Amino acid sequence: MFFATDRKLSEFSTFSIGGPIRYFAEVKTAVEMKEGILFAKEQSLPFFILGKGSNCLFSDRGFNGVVLLNRIDFCEWREPYVTVGAGTSFSYLGVQSAKLGLTGLEFAAGIPASVGGAIFMNAGANGKETCETLVSVTFMNEDGKIHEYTKEELDFSYRHSRFQTLIGAIISARFRLTCEPTARKKQLEIIDYRMKTQPLKQKSIGCIFRNPSGASAGRLIQESGLKGLRIGGAKVSEIHANFIVNEKLATSDDVHQLIKEVQEQVLQKTGIQLQPEIRVIPYV
Ligand SMILES: Cc1cc2nc3c(=O)[nH]c(=O)nc-3n(C[C@H](O)[C@H](O)[C@H](O)COP(=O)(O)OP(=O)(O)OC[C@H]3O[C@@H](n4cnc5c(N)ncnc54)[C@H](O)[C@@H]3O)c2cc1C
Repeated sequence: MFFATDRKLSEFSTFSIGGPIRYFAEVKTAVEMKEGILFAKEQSLPFFILGKGSNCLFSDRGFNGVVLLNRIDFCEWREPYVTVGAGTSFSYLGVQSAKLGLTGLEFAAGIPASVGGAIFMNAGANGKETCETLVSVTFMNEDGKIHEYTKEELDFSYRHSRFQTLIGAIISARFRLTCEPTARKKQLEIIDYRMKTQPLKQKSIGCIFRNPSGASAGRLIQESGLKGLRIGGAKVSEIHANFIVNEKLATSDDVHQLIKEVQEQVLQKTGIQLQPEIRVIPYV
């Protein structure tokens, strides 16, 4: 397998932020994933599994280990089941299942994730979460061994899965969907709403903060008068206050400072401490 030494995380981040990668490889099969993971082990380096980079705040210093870009991309439809590679586009899965008249993943349309990233984060929208239609997940651990988990073993909750505490790579997943003739209509409405309410033309990593129980982080930020607040090239979106956009060559430091400033001001004005939803990937 070829490991590149001249790539940057910014190339693989929807935020366009992130410095040099020590070793980078694109992985298209489980065999290649094993090779990548074992290479990291041989070199005594940490490895990082990259999906679509739509939820990670990378460091400008980069990553001093092995980054494995998951491109295990396949879709096998055996209604009512679909088995997908973890590198498959989650948005594609949402659109395609709705087109086939299957309900359960309409909300995925427009989320710029890989299936692996969506499972890792238990991504959700419109009152639905990834885990709801999930049946099982094939996972490779840090020794390159494969394990099949059922949904019940995966400790899912709001933007949380057991994978956040394991070291390894999600390889594929199986979902169970239900026939519903109105699925495509619902999915198109979801996309339409997303286009109107999110800054999709700007670089971002989605919602920065978790919704505190019974409240909306976006509303708290908006009501604290913070829309449009800037630090360096990073700005609180004017369209959706829970998004930070990279307006002018923002650095990871600009974003960290802006996150801190928003947290402090919201705490002062509402008494609520916002917690980040994004994954912060430090230089190691
Ligand atoms: C415009 C926009 C809109 C968004 N809307 C939503 C939304 O509606 N709902 C929502 O929940 N999120 C949303 N997000 C955030 C983001 O898309 C999700 O969190 C998504 O699940 C991240 O998937 P990814 O493939 O990009 O993961 P990445 O950002 O690449 O990685 C995220 C984490 O998952 C891990 N990971 C990824 N793939 C694997 C794998 N195969 N095996 C093991 N670990 C893995 C990574 O190591 C990392 O820790 C949005 C983001 C943007 C930019």
